Amino acid sequence: MAHTLESESRKLLGRLRDTMAEDAAGQARLDKITHLTADSMGTEVCSIYLFRDADTLELCATQGLNAAAVHQTRMKLGEGLVGRVARSGKTVNAADAPSEPGFRFMPETGEEIYSSFLGVPIQRLGEKLGVLVVQSKQARQFSDDEIYALEVVAMVLAEMTELGAFVGEGAAMEKRHTQAVLFRGSTGQEGATMGHVWLHEPRVVVTNLVADDPETELTRLQEAVDRLRVSVDQMLAGASIGEGDQVEVLEAYRMFANSKGWLRRMEEDIGRGLSAEAAVEKEQSQTRARMSQVTDGYLRERLHDLDDLSNRLLRILTGQGRETGSEMPENPILVARNIGPGDLLDYNRKLRGVVLEEGSVGSHAVIVARALAIPLIINAERITNEALNGDQILVDGDQGIVHLRPDDTVVNAFRDKLAMQAKAQERYSSIREAECVSADGQRIHLLMNAGLMADLPSLTSSGAEGVGLFRTELQFLVRNKMPKRTELAEIYARVLDAAGGKRVVFRTLDIGSDKVLPYMKPTEEPNPALGWRAIRVALDRPGVMRMQLQALIRAANGRPLTLMFPFIAQYEEFIHARAELEKVMAREQKLGHTVPERVEIGTMLETPSLAYAPQRFFDEVEFVSIGGNDLKQFFFAADRENERVRRRYDTLNQSFLSFLRLVVERCETSNTPLSFCGEDAGRPVEALCLAAMGIRTLSMRPASIGPVKSLLMRYRLSEIRDVIEEAFARGEQSVRGPVMDYLRDNS
Ligand code: PEP
Ligand code: MG
Repeated sequence: MAHTLESESRKLLGRLRDTMAEDAAGQARLDKITHLTADSMGTEVCSIYLFRDADTLELCATQGLNAAAVHQTRMKLGEGLVGRVARSGKTVNAADAPSEPGFRFMPETGEEIYSSFLGVPIQRLGEKLGVLVVQSKQARQFSDDEIYALEVVAMVLAEMTELGAFVGEGAAMEKRHTQAVLFRGSTGQEGATMGHVWLHEPRVVVTNLVADDPETELTRLQEAVDRLRVSVDQMLAGASIGEGDQVEVLEAYRMFANSKGWLRRMEEDIGRGLSAEAAVEKEQSQTRARMSQVTDGYLRERLHDLDDLSNRLLRILTGQGRETGSEMPENPILVARNIGPGDLLDYNRKLRGVVLEEGSVGSHAVIVARALAIPLIINAERITNEALNGDQILVDGDQGIVHLRPDDTVVNAFRDKLAMQAKAQERYSSIREAECVSADGQRIHLLMNAGLMADLPSLTSSGAEGVGLFRTELQFLVRNKMPKRTELAEIYARVLDAAGGKRVVFRTLDIGSDKVLPYMKPTEEPNPALGWRAIRVALDRPGVMRMQLQALIRAANGRPLTLMFPFIAQYEEFIHARAELEKVMAREQKLGHTVPERVEIGTMLETPSLAYAPQRFFDEVEFVSIGGNDLKQFFFAADRENERVRRRYDTLNQSFLSFLRLVVERCETSNTPLSFCGEDAGRPVEALCLAAMGIRTLSMRPASIGPVKSLLMRYRLSEIRDVIEEAFARGEQSVRGPVMDYLRDNS
């Protein structure tokens, strides 16, 4: 019996394929499919409903219902049984449809006389496209085999919809991937840019959905799965011990690759007439549909693993690699579900922007994008389903908005915005070589933050006077293995060479909290930002910091060296860190290495506690740099990574500025140079206020130097300071309003 049904199903698919091959209009094809399906399933009715917009379905073809209802009957998501299938993405099989909860009577279709109803979702890779329904007068429950058969038809329909086989009149039949779509995500890195989509993982296109010979397809699938298993085993063998997370992921891969259920379902689909790749894709679609319903983070990740495996399998079967042969478009903007920092770096400086479906503000990809100063948007949900290679795309990193295939008015408005930015850039380049001196003659030093070799060309192009913060952890984060000392020494030497004598402040490894090394055993901490991180790790397990200090000393090879310890919360930590350095220096000297002619040792001030350290701390430390990103999160108790609170408190809040005033005073008493290297230093108005409060060295993203310098040179710091102090005296919560008024009145 099952066998007969299978061959029925194969026959139906064969006929569908022939229909597709015919040179017919979209509507005629849909009509024919409903006819063939009803005929093959022995039902009076077969209907196809497609989404005309995100929550409306439209009857687009029918065999058995009133033909006049086609393109007239519509329903909302969740409305009636069809709407229920669409909303839940699940099959509805009802012997007595009118008595089902939610049944909606649609007189225009003559539906009431049909008792049984079977509806399956038409979806592709988790994207809902419509609903396929069969109905019959006889009150009966459809069998599992019949459900399967209808699902297979729905899958073919989904593929055909994707390939534009049913294009016709009306929104529901518009060609897919042609409309303008707006995505609202979150800002990973500011900046506006326009260009063309470059998919990191291009979709594999399956064109041969139906196959005549199941035996051949089963063999192809089996061979492909064997190859997949071998490659997963090889990956697992290649991952060295200690690469905790990676091994866990690969183990999950192996489990899926050997999962009997996964394989069996695909084999059954082949038995029903699908090609091997279509069977994989059908399974993948179901995984994606599940993925959208799962909220548990761990489970979602595992479903993603399964999704990745399906992609690998599809590539083996179709021979389509990541390299699809298509050329990278002009001004490429990378679109991906997510991307590792290494992959992002591999693109070098080619990318104009990056848009991710996932990611978080602190994720490694975001850290790298920041370092590369590429506008980046995260959480742009479902964009990989919509975007096609080469599509025009506008990225507004300031607002967290992406326009895909925008219409002309949007493009023109965006062009204006970019033109204004370009004009400002011109203005900045004209003052690039100028010293930054305020209108009342105060000298302010503007430095840049860096962390990758890719940053260093900006040292000249931005006009930075040096590197005020070199985040050494980036070199650790972009690798999947702990870098070797020689490797690091080489990189640091190249950094110093590129700086050509300008001062570079190397911050020792700042890991933990948001920066978790992929190869370090993750430690479960209730609150990582307040946990075992940065200097705390370095002092408790000094091996890595010692190795890094050696690399830095060797890189300097006699040249002066500037080091900064992160996250020092009390005097003693500074003393211990400095002692470690002295030990390493002595050892290096003993080993015959040239030690730097001078080592300058500073610390970051990232916890309020350090501002109240004993006087001897300020006397002994050679410079202090305020890490405003962390300092602010601890000062206001507002997580810098939590979208809900991270912008809640203004940097120009009176409490925060008063606190900074205290730090300035403490440094002034001991003549300790003070700088500020958090993100706020790169925001012009904030920078102006910081300078007015007495912080005369600011380190920021290279792209911010121009705008900051331009503003600082136009105003008198003493007057800004007066505005701030007066606002304090009036008890204003934030000085932003009064400062902005002053800037406007004196522009
Ligand atoms: C800071 O905390 O302000 C800082 C500069 O360090 P990071 O952003 O790397 O934590
Ligand atoms: Mg910090």
